[in-house]
Amino acid sequence: MSANQSTISFHDGKTAPQVGMGVWQVEDDIAASVVTTALEIGYRSIDTAAIYGNETGVGKGIAQSGIPREELFVATKLWNDRHGHDISKIAFNESLEKLGLDYVDLYLIHWPAPTQGLFVEAWESIIQLHDEGRAKSIGVSNFNISHLQLLLDETGVLPVVNQIELHPNFQQLALRDFHAEHDIITEAWSPLGRGRLFEDPVLTSIAHKHGCTVAQVMLRWHTQLGHMVIPKSVHASRLAENFHVFDLMLDDGDMAAIAALDQADGRAGPDPDTFHLFK
Ligand code: NAD
Repeated sequence: MSANQSTISFHDGKTAPQVGMGVWQVEDDIAASVVTTALEIGYRSIDTAAIYGNETGVGKGIAQSGIPREELFVATKLWNDRHGHDISKIAFNESLEKLGLDYVDLYLIHWPAPTQGLFVEAWESIIQLHDEGRAKSIGVSNFNISHLQLLLDETGVLPVVNQIELHPNFQQLALRDFHAEHDIITEAWSPLGRGRLFEDPVLTSIAHKHGCTVAQVMLRWHTQLGHMVIPKSVHASRLAENFHVFDLMLDDGDMAAIAALDQADGRAGPDPDTFHLFK
């Protein structure tokens, strides 16, 4: 990792790069070359998921890079139709096989899918994978406070990370406060607001003031707040732009102006309480 990058510490003693690359909607047949490009730029953290259908391509990119495995941080996720004691382990093994790895650095439950009522069972399986050393760290994604509280009550084990939708239009303050109280790292998905915020006048004017891009303003806002981020792009120039954010320092006025962009209905993706897509 290049010197101008930052590392996050988890409550399990492990660490992770603060800036990684997301590969949602990257087709499997181009995933290897996108991963190769990102690794050449300096990325060492990759966020995929079983449902993205590109674990094989991601694994190829990793293998071709020749970068020692211990220098990489690879995360993947358990899909909603694989919650349960045995089935979650089978799904994990399938992901490892596709990635061509014998461990992942972070394994996440992708959504709580609470109408199904099986995420605690999935979590119990994932705790065992952690105990076996095959998932070095374990976390969740799209969990609300009630879901996290249930994990704590039922297992006594909290995730190191909750990967949630987070961008200037949707800031999830109550959930982030809960994370801070419980030493859970907030990881932002759609950290750039899925491309909807590039024309925002507040962000544009902050970018103009600092001589940087709107994407860099958003990513620096996240990283100054201590979030992990996994912006997605398949273009080398944007991958590079998104990776190089630590020379920038937003001031208190910038941070306050971005805080004011929060909207109660600013969500771009589904609501975790009701989302139950299974395929
Ligand atoms: P994002 O906020 O990263 O935005 C991606 C969009 O912004 C794309 O259209 C991309 O072309 C564009 N973009 C990226 N960098 C740019 C730049 N520098 N300048 C201009 N445009 C740029 O949104 P995302 O892909 O939804 O989220 C990022 C990652 O988060 C995903 O790839 C995935 O790994 C993860 N994710 C997780 C979940 C979850 O449920 N856990 C859900 C969605 C995404």
